[in-house]
Amino acid sequence: MIDPAYTPAEATGIWVFLEHDRGQLAPVSLEMLAKARELASKSGAILTGLLMGHELDAIAGEAAHLDLDRLVVVAHPLLDAFTAEAYAHAAREVILRERPDILLLGATPYGRDLAGRLAVTLRTGLTADCTDLSLDAANGLLLGEVSGFGGGILATIACANHRPQMATVRPGVFARTEAERAAAAPIERVEVDIPASARPVTVVARHRQERADISRADRLVVAGAGARGQLPLIEALAGALHAEIGATRVAVDEGWAGRDRQIGQTGVITHPKLAIVCGASGATQFTVGIDQADLVVALNSDPEAPIFEQADLCVVDDLLPVVRALVAEFESRGEGAP
Ligand SMILES: Cc1cc2nc3c(=O)[nH]c(=O)nc-3n(C[C@H](O)[C@H](O)[C@H](O)COP(=O)(O)OP(=O)(O)OC[C@H]3O[C@@H](n4cnc5c(N)ncnc54)[C@H](O)[C@@H]3O)c2cc1C
Repeated sequence: MIDPAYTPAEATGIWVFLEHDRGQLAPVSLEMLAKARELASKSGAILTGLLMGHELDAIAGEAAHLDLDRLVVVAHPLLDAFTAEAYAHAAREVILRERPDILLLGATPYGRDLAGRLAVTLRTGLTADCTDLSLDAANGLLLGEVSGFGGGILATIACANHRPQMATVRPGVFARTEAERAAAAPIERVEVDIPASARPVTVVARHRQERADISRADRLVVAGAGARGQLPLIEALAGALHAEIGATRVAVDEGWAGRDRQIGQTGVITHPKLAIVCGASGATQFTVGIDQADLVVALNSDPEAPIFEQADLCVVDDLLPVVRALVAEFESRGEGAP
C-alpha cells in the first residue's frame, strides 16, 4: 500500500471547494454544500468552504453567509485565473496543513482537473462523477455511488486508508442549498507560497462561449433519433411551451443540438416539471438524466420502446402528427401553455 499523506486518525472535517468565476459562485458548489451539510449533520463534522483565487474580498464576504461553519480563503496573484498546476500546488499545501477528512468538488472542467491532480499529489483516492454520496455510519467512510459499464451497474466506492476522501459530482445531481447564515462564518486567510514555476501556463485572454443550462429548465422538449427531419417542429413545440430543447446523444452526435443540451449519463442531469421526449428509445444512459422530472411525456412509434417504462404519459404514434397537433393546441392557448 502507498503511504497516505496523513492518516484517517489525523483527519477531520468536511471541505467543499467553492468554485467561482467572475465574481459568481458556481451553482454546483452550492449543491455540494447542501449535500456536505447533510453529511456533516450526521457525523457532527465541521463544514469548511475552500475559496481560492485573487482579490477575493467581495466573494469571500458573500461565501461566508453560505451554510458552512468556516471559510478558508487562499488568495494569491498566481491564482487570479484557474490553472490546474497553481491551484493544485496551493490546495495541496493547505490540505496538508489542515488535514480535512473529506474534500468535495464539482465535476466541472476546473473541478475535475484540480481533483485529479490533487488526488495524485496527495496519494489518495478520488471517486469521480458520483451520482450520490453518503456516510457509512459504522466507520464514517465517505461512500460514493457511481455508475459503470454504460449505466449497467451501480458501484459504491470508499477510500479506506488515505485522506482526504475525495469525490466529484456533476452539476444538477444535488439540489442547491437555500440555507444561509445570518452572521458571517469565520474567515481564515491562509498564506501560501506559490513559485512562478508552479504556473507554467500564462492566461493571455479569456473568451466565454454562452452555453445553455438545461439542468435548471422547468420545461424540456427532447429530441431523440426518431426526430430526424423534424427539428423545426420540435423547436416550434419548445417555442409554444416556452421550453428548452434537450437531446439524446444520438441527436447531439447528428449535430441537431449542442453538446450542452445532451441529457443523460455523459450529459446533463435535469429536473424539469415537464419533459416531452420525442423519438427517444429510453436507454438507461439517457433516462438517468430525466428520472427526476415531475412529468415525462413520451412519444414513440414503437409500443415496446423502453422509454414507456419511464414515462407518465405514453403516446404510441408517429411523432409528426402528434407534435404538429400539440403545437397547434398550445399556440391556440397562447402565452405559457399548457
Ligand atoms: C458510456 C455511454 C454513455 C452514454 N451516455 C449517453 C447520454 O448521456 N445520453 C444519451 O442520450 N445517450 C447516451 N448514450 C447512448 C445511449 O446508450 C443510446 O444509444 C442513446 O440514448 C439512444 O438515443 P435515441 O433514443 O435518440 O436513439 P435510438 O435508440 O435510435 O431511438 C430512437 C427511437 O425513436 C423512435 N422513432 C423513430 N422514428 C420515429 C417517429 N417517426 N415517431 C416516433 N418515434 C420514432 C424509435 O422507435 C426509437 O425508439 C451512452 C452510451 C454509452 C455506452
